[in-house]
Amino acid sequence: MSILTGMETLSAFSLTQEDWHNLLLSEGGTVHLLPFWLDGLYKDRSIWTKHVSASLLQRLEDKLDFSLPQISQVQESQDGTVKFLIRFKDQFEVETVLIPFHKRFTVCLSTQVGCGMNCSFCYTGTQGLKRNLTSGEIVGQYMVAMNWLKQKNPKSLKPSIVFMGQGEPLHNASEVSRAIKIFNNTKLLDIGHRQMTLSTVGFLPGLKLLKDFPSINLALSLHSPFDQQRKSLIPINERFPLNEVMQELDHLTSLKKRIITYEYLLIKDFNMSDSHVEELYQLLGKRPAVLNLIPFNPFPGSNWERPEREEIDAFKEKLVAKKLRVMVRTTKGADILAACGQLKVNKLARKNGTH
Ligand code: SF4
Repeated sequence: MSILTGMETLSAFSLTQEDWHNLLLSEGGTVHLLPFWLDGLYKDRSIWTKHVSASLLQRLEDKLDFSLPQISQVQESQDGTVKFLIRFKDQFEVETVLIPFHKRFTVCLSTQVGCGMNCSFCYTGTQGLKRNLTSGEIVGQYMVAMNWLKQKNPKSLKPSIVFMGQGEPLHNASEVSRAIKIFNNTKLLDIGHRQMTLSTVGFLPGLKLLKDFPSINLALSLHSPFDQQRKSLIPINERFPLNEVMQELDHLTSLKKRIITYEYLLIKDFNMSDSHVEELYQLLGKRPAVLNLIPFNPFPGSNWERPEREEIDAFKEKLVAKKLRVMVRTTKGADILAACGQLKVNKLARKNGTH
């Protein structure tokens, strides 16, 4: 049974190029109209005034919902991070975050309202899954953030995308896959497949579908190389243990020749010992992998502490000495609680959502 309840009329932003082609033809349009129509939808609607007849436009408006989700709140951080609270038609809300990175922004998109994965470092998980977002709502979040950015600075580049907001993207694989096709299509939003990263906690049924997705970057929330400890952070590790997840990732890397990023939350006195270094080496040493270290962002009521700068550096050095490729993620937007894992949506809060 579908849990999609957010849209009554199909969103115009959930249609692929092929869908538009078929729909325009069935409504009496021509093939030549398609590029003008798509440019009008994604760039500037005034294009329609010149190229689309009023009657065709009316027929399409009767069939589809052309509206975007609403911004119900915007917070801007001193470092340029912007956090939006985005409201859908059924009044459910998610957070969407614009993160400055060099000369470009990255937009962090949500894929579900709530989440069913119940990760212990993330409050969203404790709220349970409310519903999946549709592809139109996922694309809609992007459009809203991009339009806001363009209004501030018309010369701003199109933001890159990370699927790291609220929800487990592979638990909503079909809608996320459709959204990626819409983002990636050169006639629609034209975002390169290397400009998109999907982050998962290792939801195996969804991972198995990735071979049919456009080939975007992939990140796995690892957080511990030990099953027992990882399970305490990511409960679905019980159903889908790390060795099965790694097997599937190996299969994917051989098929699609890609390097996988492994996200690793650094928690003081928890997952930063020498045995963790050794086990990480055993796990990743021979794989095409980048280890992304993410210092834990404390939140009110959290049981864990962020390690000191010296501890982070020492852990990193030990991994580098093992010839692992390691990065440390810098914190953005901490003053507006938009840093990774600090997102909070009314009662739906997401603490360290580094999936
Ligand atoms: S970290 Fe991600 S997958 Fe885990 S509960 Fe939070 S939103 Fe869900």
